[in-house]
Amino acid sequence: MNECSDSAGVRLRVAVPTPQHSGLGSPLDYRHPEGVPPGSLVRVPLGRREVLGVVWDPTDDDTEGVPPAALKPVQAALNLPPLSEEWRRLVAFTAAYYQRGLGEMAASALPAPLANLTPEQLARRLKKLRPVGAAEPASGLAPTLQADQAVAVDALKQQLVGVAPVKPSLLWGLTGSGKTEVYLQAAATALAQGRQVLVLVPEINLTPQLVARFAARFGAERVACLHSGLTPAQRLRDWLRAHLGQADVVLGTRLAVLASLPRLGLVVVDEEHDPSFKAQDGARQSARDLAVWRAARLGVPVVLGSATPSLETWHNAQSGRYQRLDLRSRIDAAPLPDVRLVDMKRLPARAGELNRASPVLAPTLQHAIEARLARGEQSLLLLNRRGYAPVLHCGQCSWRSGCPHCSAWRVFHKGDRSLRCHHCGFSERVPVACPDCGNPDIDAIGRGTERLEEQLQALLPQARIARLDADTTQRAGSLEAQLAAVHAGEVDVLVGTQMIAKGHDFRRVTLVAALSPDNLLYSSDFRAPERLFALLIQAAGRAGRAGSASGHPAEMWVQSHQVEHPLYQALKRHDYPAFAQAQLDERRSAGLPPFMHLALLRADSRDETGAQAFLMAAAAAGRALSGESDLFWYPAVPHPVAKVANQWRWQMLVEASHRGVLQRVLAQWLPALHALRPQHRSVTRWAIDVDPQAI
Ligand code: ADP
Ligand code: ZN
Ligand code: ZN
Repeated sequence: MNECSDSAGVRLRVAVPTPQHSGLGSPLDYRHPEGVPPGSLVRVPLGRREVLGVVWDPTDDDTEGVPPAALKPVQAALNLPPLSEEWRRLVAFTAAYYQRGLGEMAASALPAPLANLTPEQLARRLKKLRPVGAAEPASGLAPTLQADQAVAVDALKQQLVGVAPVKPSLLWGLTGSGKTEVYLQAAATALAQGRQVLVLVPEINLTPQLVARFAARFGAERVACLHSGLTPAQRLRDWLRAHLGQADVVLGTRLAVLASLPRLGLVVVDEEHDPSFKAQDGARQSARDLAVWRAARLGVPVVLGSATPSLETWHNAQSGRYQRLDLRSRIDAAPLPDVRLVDMKRLPARAGELNRASPVLAPTLQHAIEARLARGEQSLLLLNRRGYAPVLHCGQCSWRSGCPHCSAWRVFHKGDRSLRCHHCGFSERVPVACPDCGNPDIDAIGRGTERLEEQLQALLPQARIARLDADTTQRAGSLEAQLAAVHAGEVDVLVGTQMIAKGHDFRRVTLVAALSPDNLLYSSDFRAPERLFALLIQAAGRAGRAGSASGHPAEMWVQSHQVEHPLYQALKRHDYPAFAQAQLDERRSAGLPPFMHLALLRADSRDETGAQAFLMAAAAAGRALSGESDLFWYPAVPHPVAKVANQWRWQMLVEASHRGVLQRVLAQWLPALHALRPQHRSVTRWAIDVDPQAI
C-alpha cells in the first residue's frame, strides 16, 4: 500500500504508456480513494486519453511532492490479481537495460485488448474462461530415456528440487537427438511441484509438433500459447490463463518472455541461437537474454537448447558460467549426412546458360538428385533469395530496376509479372521494354527461387517440383497444405528459402543441397558466418531422418566458390566446436561480442543529411558524458541499405569492454538525446539498439 494519503485519498505511482518521444519514462502520480496494492491494473487519464497502467512500487520520497488532492484520479481498478513483484522487476530491468520508458515497456508486455475492457466485460470473461474437461486429456507416455538424455534430465531435476545449485544449462544436441524429450521430462518435474513452465520457440507457426507434444503429454487444457499470430482475443485469453495460474505450460515466441507467470519454475529456450528471439523494433529486447535473467533472478533453472548455440552461449558454457549438457547421437541412430562440397570454381562456364546466371547444379549434384528421383526419395534445395531474379538490366543503356524510394534493386517476380521492392514493398508491373531507351530485350540478372524452380523443371523434366518461400505461403493455410504435400510424397524436389530448413520432420528427404550459400558468408554482418553455419547444420538435419531406403547415408551438398573456407571444412566434419572456437578467436581479436559490448544508435531522416547530423551531435554529447570511462564512439555511417521508403538511414556504434559501464553511460545519454531531438527536425525516428544483432 502506498503511504502518502490525505482526505482526498492515496497517491499511487502508475506506469503508463507515455510516448517514447516525450522523454518521460518514469511512472506518473495519480490518486485513488483508498489505494490498491502494487501490480494492480488500473485505468487512468493520460492527456486526453484513458489508458491502462500498472500500479508501481512506492519509492522513499513518495511522502513528498504533490498532495493527492491535486492529482488526477484513477478511473477504475481491474478486478484481477496484481502482477507480481517478480514481473515488475523483470519489466523494470528490461526497460532500463534496453533504454526504454517503464510504462511503455509494461504496456507492451500486456495483451492489447486488456486496455479496452471495462471491469464488467472482464468479469464476464473471467466467468466464461474454459469448460473443464472439454480439452483432450494427457495421453502421451514418456519413453525411457537414453543415457545422455537421462544425465541431462537428472541435472535439471537436481536443480529443480534444490539438490544442485541453480545455473543456466546449454542442452547441445542435433535435431533428433532428443532435446524436446528432455524439456518434457524436466517440465514434468516442475509441474509435479506445482510450478509453471515457460517454453520459448523462435517461430510458433513452424513448430506445431512441439505444441502438440506438450499438449499430448500434459493435456491441452494445461497448455497456453502466446505469439503474434493469435487474434487479440486469443492472446488475451491465454495471457489471462497464464496470469491466473490456470495454464501450467506457456509456449510462445519472444513476446512470451514477459508473460505474467505467478508460479514459474522452469524456463526453456529452444533453438536459442535463432535471431528472431531479438525484437527488431520497439525496445529491441532479446527474449533469450531476458529468459536467462528472469530465471536467474527467480532462482529457477533455464535450459537453452541448440545444435549450433549462439557464440555468446557457447562462450558462457566454455567459461563455466553455464553447464553444458550434451546429447551426442540421434535417437533413431540415423547417421549424420555425408557432406559433399562442390568446388564451383572448377566447373567450366557453360555456353548458352540462361542470361549469365551461373550453372544451377553441378553435374555431380544433378546426378545425385536423379538417383534420388529413381529411388523415390526426396531432395531439398535451398536458395536464400526469393523472386525470379534480383534485378533487371538493359544491355543497351544500362538501366537497372532500382527502387525509386530505396537504395536497392527491385526484384523481378515472374508469377505476377511484377517488379517488387523487398524493402518498402513498392511494386509495379514489369515493363515490356526498357523504360529509358525502349529496348525490348531486358535481361533478368541472377537467380531467385522462382527462377530456380523453372530451371530445375527443364533439367529434371520427370520430377515433381514444388517451391516454398514467403511468396508461395502468403495465404493462410498454404504453408500447411504445401508441407502436407511434401509429407504425402507428392513432391520429389522441394525448392525454397531458409524457411524449408526449419523444424520440419521430412521422413523421405535423403538429399539436402545449399546452392549458393557464399553470399551469406561474405555479408558485412559479423554474425553472418554463425548464421550460415547454423542454417547449414539445420538443413543437414532435414536429411535422412528415417534413413535412406537404399541403405545409402543421406547427403548434404554445398555448392561454393570457397570450399576451402574453414566454415565449410568444419561443416564437412560436423565439427561445431571447432567452428565456434575459430569464430570466438576472431571475435576476440576483432573486439566483438561476446568479448565487447555494443550499442547502436540508429536514426532515419527525410533528407540526406539530417540523420547524420543528429548522430554527430549525439556522439559529441555522448563523448562529453562518458569522460574518462572506457568507451569507444565510432563515427556515424550510413546503414547498409542507406535509403528505405524515402528515409535516409544512419547508425553509430558505441563499444565498451564492460557491460556496466555501457549501461551507465547509455542511461545518461538517453535524456541528452531527447533534448537534442527538437533541433533535428528532419529526423523521423531514432532508437538505441542494445546488443545489436548486426552492425
Ligand atoms: P530434438 O528435440 O532434439 O529434435 P526429439 O526430442 O524431438 O529431439 O526426439 C526425436 C524423436 O525421437 C522424437 O520422435 C521423439 O519422440 C523420439 N524420442 C526422443 N527421446 C526418445 C527416447 N528416449 N526413446 C524413444 N524415442 C525417443
Ligand atoms: Zn535501356
Ligand atoms: Zn523500395
